[in-house]
Amino acid sequence: MIVVMRIDSDEEQRDGVVRRIESLGLRGEIVHGEQRKVIAVLGQVYPELRDELATLDGVDQVLRISRPYKLASREVRERDTVVELPYGVSIGSGRPVVMAGPCAIESEEQLRETAARVRQSGAHILRGGAFKPRTSPYSFHGLGLEALEMLQRAGREFGMPVITELLSERDVDVVAEHSDVLQIGTRNMQNFVLLSEAGKTGKPVMLKRGLSATIEEWLLSAEYILTQGNPDVILCERGVRTFETQTRNTLDLNAVALVKRLSHLPVIVDPSHGTGHWYLVGPMATAGLAVGADGLMIEVHPDPDRALSDGAQSLTPEHFDELMQEASALGNAVGRPLAERPAVAVQGGAR
Ligand code: PEP
Ligand code: MN
Repeated sequence: MIVVMRIDSDEEQRDGVVRRIESLGLRGEIVHGEQRKVIAVLGQVYPELRDELATLDGVDQVLRISRPYKLASREVRERDTVVELPYGVSIGSGRPVVMAGPCAIESEEQLRETAARVRQSGAHILRGGAFKPRTSPYSFHGLGLEALEMLQRAGREFGMPVITELLSERDVDVVAEHSDVLQIGTRNMQNFVLLSEAGKTGKPVMLKRGLSATIEEWLLSAEYILTQGNPDVILCERGVRTFETQTRNTLDLNAVALVKRLSHLPVIVDPSHGTGHWYLVGPMATAGLAVGADGLMIEVHPDPDRALSDGAQSLTPEHFDELMQEASALGNAVGRPLAERPAVAVQGGAR
C-alpha cells in the first residue's frame, strides 16, 4: 500500500502517518519525490487499512498495490491447479473437459437418457440440478434428495463424475455425499457462510460468478473456500447482467482470459446461462475454449420444449453432439485437445 501525501503536507503530518503505520505493527518508509512525498506501507496490510490511513492529516490518497486475494492468486501459486475427479477426469490439466446434463433432474428416465446421450457424444462430467434456485417461488424447485440419488446412480451407471448445486447450508452433508463436485450458484456467490461450509467438506467446489460480481469479488469468494484448506476450487463464468435484453446474460469472455492470468484456478465457461438461447450455445462454447477456458458446462435435455427449467437454452442431444464435434475441432486447432473420455466403459443404459 502506498500513502500519497498532499503537496502542501508538512513533516509533522508525514511523521504522524508513519507513527500510525508503526503502531499497527507495520513499517512506513517515506519516499521523497521531486514534488510529493509518498509513504510505502510494508508488511501484512488488510483491506480496511486503506480507509484508516486516508483520513489522516496531510494524506491525499491511499493506493493498494498487492491483490486482496492471496491463495487464489498466481502471485502465491504460479502453477495451474489441477482438480482430480473419479474416473480419471481432471480439470485444469490443459485439456478441456465438458460437463453436460439437464438444468433440473426431472425423472430417472430423463436423466438416464440425457446421461447416455451426452456420454456417447464425449462429455466427461454429468450435471443435474436437484435443488434449484428459481426467481419465482411458483416455479419448479427440483426433486431434492430423490434427484441426488438419481444423479449418483446415473454417474455410476455411465461412469462419469457428477456435479450438482448446493443451495443451502441445510443440504451440505447430503449433497457432498451424493456428488463429486459441489456447485455454488450465481445467487450464492457471496453467501460467505455457505462458501466456508462447502470448503470444509473437502470436495471440489465449482464457484459460479455472481450476477453482477466483479472479478475481484469473485476471486475473494473463491478465497473463502481456499482458506478452509480446500485447494480444489473451479471457477465458472456464466454471464453477467448488463443493459442488453436480447440475451439472458452477457457472457464475459474478458473475464475468462483475465482470470487465467490472475489466478491458477481452472475456469469453466457456461454458455447456456451466459446466452439463454440454445442457438447461441455452440458459438459461445467454442469461443470460450478459444480464449483459454478449462472446460464447458452445457445444459442438455431430451425434449427442451417440455423442460421444467431453462428449456430455451437447453440443447437437444443431437445439437449437443454437433457442439462436441465443434469443440473437439476447436481444441485441436488451438493445441488444447479435449480431455480423454472418462476411464470406465459405459455399462449400458437408455438410448
Ligand atoms: C444452473 O447451473 O442450472 C444454475 C442455476 O446456474 P446459475 O447459478 O449460473 O444461474
Ligand atoms: Mn439452468
